[in-house]
Amino acid sequence: MSDHLMNTYMRQPVTFTKGEGVWLWDHHEKYLDALSGVAVNGLGHAHPKLVDAIAKQAGKLIHVSNIYHIAEQEALADKLCEVSGMDKVFFCNSGCEANEAAIKLARLYGHNKGIQSPEIIVMDQSFHGRTLATLSATGNRKVQAGFEPLVGGFIRVPYDDVEAVRQVALHHPNVVAVLVEPVQGEGGINIPKDAGAYLENLRQICDAHDWLLMLDEVQTGVARTGTWFAFQHTSIKPDVMSLAKGLGSGVPIGACVAAGKAAEVFTYGKHGSTFGGNPLATAAGLATLNIIEEEGLLANAEKIGDLIRENLLAALKNTQGVVTVRNAGLMIGIELDRPCGELVKTALEARLLINVTADTVVRLLPPLIMNETEAAELVQRLSALIKAFLSK
Ligand SMILES: *Cc1c(COP(=O)(O)O)cnc(C)c1O
Repeated sequence: MSDHLMNTYMRQPVTFTKGEGVWLWDHHEKYLDALSGVAVNGLGHAHPKLVDAIAKQAGKLIHVSNIYHIAEQEALADKLCEVSGMDKVFFCNSGCEANEAAIKLARLYGHNKGIQSPEIIVMDQSFHGRTLATLSATGNRKVQAGFEPLVGGFIRVPYDDVEAVRQVALHHPNVVAVLVEPVQGEGGINIPKDAGAYLENLRQICDAHDWLLMLDEVQTGVARTGTWFAFQHTSIKPDVMSLAKGLGSGVPIGACVAAGKAAEVFTYGKHGSTFGGNPLATAAGLATLNIIEEEGLLANAEKIGDLIRENLLAALKNTQGVVTVRNAGLMIGIELDRPCGELVKTALEARLLINVTADTVVRLLPPLIMNETEAAELVQRLSALIKAFLSK
């Protein structure tokens, strides 16, 4: 092990050497991947069509610069707008950068209408990234502690509380936008009680006050919840949507996608990125979206996600200590009545890759390609681990 990495991660004692589908290997053993590199490897590992698209593109052009036209970038922007119904895309390299773009866009939108100190409404337990602006928008003190002074201009309200947003509207004339995750991922797979109504009500409030509705779909986007984007479970469309994680299947890429008036806010010189939207990353993004479509992975995510929830519920029936099992497609949370971080390590020992978030929630983000047999294997391994943990 190298001593030359900064200690920003508590790493599990394993080094993977190859992958195929939902499986990963270290030097000795085979592991079932139910985390997908935290919602990134939607196509699983080493998907042949993706590998081919990336290899072909690398052999032609990896990078030029955004001071030239880039055909792959234009094709991915067209495809993203086709499947989302949105109008324009700015490409960057990560989720926090996509949210930075959204935050800058909202501020500029405010300035353009004469609001000198624009404010953005954000939520408790939210996660938007680790840059200064996005950690300031994030609703988790652990992410912020030690990095004060925070970036200002954020007003925080409880998640899934429309009334709280209405109250802010009464007292804060400088609000320009609401930034919200359709399902909170890092916050514990928090699904609004009536997810459709929540977003529809927020849409209505934003329209009434001429605010932008900005959805952080970095985790929920790109088929994770069974539709291309989580907002497509509802009747509304956002003004701005941020994407990253699953978009490039592991090749770093992020996108800030906008519609209508929001799509016209950025003009020459207002934002930029050296790597953003380069030929390699956008070829990977385009291949990802095409493969999702060709292989019917939207429907698969919904089917397998529901199957895993139902079978986990059945396997854990009458197990003291299980609070709920909830899912939105292949975003699955098993909430326990006690902190369960140690399950990550015991699962690894059982050759299963999972994650624990918000202290008490086992989080599963399986590859979108997972089949029924693999899902059954996952349920079997995980339910045994949870039962053993809770009976200690
Ligand atoms: C992971 C995540 C981010 C941050 O993405 P990075 O690529 O790590 O910067 C932002 N928002 C949400 C909802 C996320 O899940």
